[in-house]
Amino acid sequence: MVDADRFLLTARYVVSMDEESNVFSPGYVEIEDKKIKSAGPIDTIPEGSRVDYGNSAIIPGFINSHTHAAMTLLRGVADDLPLDDWLEGHIWPLEAKFLSPEFVLAGTRLAAAEMLKGGTTLFADMYFFEDEVAEASKETGIRVLLGEGILAFPTASAKEPDKVFDLIRSQVERYQDDELASVHIAAHSTYATSEEQLRHCAELAGEFNLPIQIHCAETEKEVKESLAKHGKSQVAYLESLGLLDARIGLVHMVWPQEQDWSLLKRDNISVISCPQSNLKLASGIPPLARYIDEGIRVSLGTDGAASNNNLDVWEEMRLAAFLAKGSSLDPAKLPARQALRMVTIDAARIWGTDEWLGSLEPGKKADLVVVDLSNPHTTPTYDIYSTLVYAACAADVRDVFVAGRRVVKEGRITTLDEESVLAEANEWSQRIALTRSNV
Ligand SMILES: [Zn+2]
Repeated sequence: MVDADRFLLTARYVVSMDEESNVFSPGYVEIEDKKIKSAGPIDTIPEGSRVDYGNSAIIPGFINSHTHAAMTLLRGVADDLPLDDWLEGHIWPLEAKFLSPEFVLAGTRLAAAEMLKGGTTLFADMYFFEDEVAEASKETGIRVLLGEGILAFPTASAKEPDKVFDLIRSQVERYQDDELASVHIAAHSTYATSEEQLRHCAELAGEFNLPIQIHCAETEKEVKESLAKHGKSQVAYLESLGLLDARIGLVHMVWPQEQDWSLLKRDNISVISCPQSNLKLASGIPPLARYIDEGIRVSLGTDGAASNNNLDVWEEMRLAAFLAKGSSLDPAKLPARQALRMVTIDAARIWGTDEWLGSLEPGKKADLVVVDLSNPHTTPTYDIYSTLVYAACAADVRDVFVAGRRVVKEGRITTLDEESVLAEANEWSQRIALTRSNV
């Protein structure tokens, strides 16, 4: 039935995340030609064949605004270490040895399966061999913002660092009409991307109107180094290079400097927070409550699986709400509805995709998630936002649709054979484990 061009879904709750935060209970969503044709209360449902999900909530698909998808193959390979030792002593040497198109294909398949099963329908990637990321995403049926990592030193996919810009230009052309993949600019950081490259990023973003993301102010150490090297904070440095405009999302921002706040507000800059990664690497606690108070748009990312160690947006959402409350000593900060907005419509705005993603409204792409509410931990429900943010989890995701196609059915991926994805990942892990002691 859901394979038809037009079908209707009904459930106890339809959580639209539209401007008025309409919740239809019970409600319906009408899908036609890969898009949402209408959504509303059940007594206004149009004629047509329908699937009734009963005691469930239909919500927009989550957007994971920052990850390094293929790093799922390095999940748990080096834990309990400070960021520089973790990155330079373990992750980068392993990547130097193993990174290849095949690694990225296998790792992204695993990541895409994990994300879809947890209700994520779009992820912003920053990694290498992004054509393989697009291929794995297509196989799995997930949407992706491709981000070829821009670094000042040779990488597996750009032996000459500046060749990465040719690669990005070719990808912009290749994916301009793609159903699932589009391109953005993923500059690594102010410390691992050169000044010339950062200027180039600004030009490219302007030329093609591409969104940008960059790791920024993740640790106190890198902030101090920026002050010593450039005489200014990383945010001020990016501003001096012409990179600060509404297209940019600053990833992490655990350590904003006092002078950064006016720049962030003036230029309508977005912050992409990855609280689990920040806590695990002991980088610090992002000042989420202040970002919200200052009216700065915030979205959430899982970061890569080597620093998290999963790609579960539910956990990020819940932790972000708790950190905002706990660190401000104010339980009213970052209420549940706002936390859900961060990973749906607010994230869509950060990526310039809110015209067609992020909420359940007529004309938008039919990217939606059916959440089962019939388990003990989701019973009873007084307020659907409370249940979704404070009680539900990734395992409650029952069905997932991307562009009207059912890619998860009853908790199982429909697009590829999950067992073979896991077997492929396990084969990689055996090779990596064998050499790990030598790096
Ligand atoms: Zn990252």
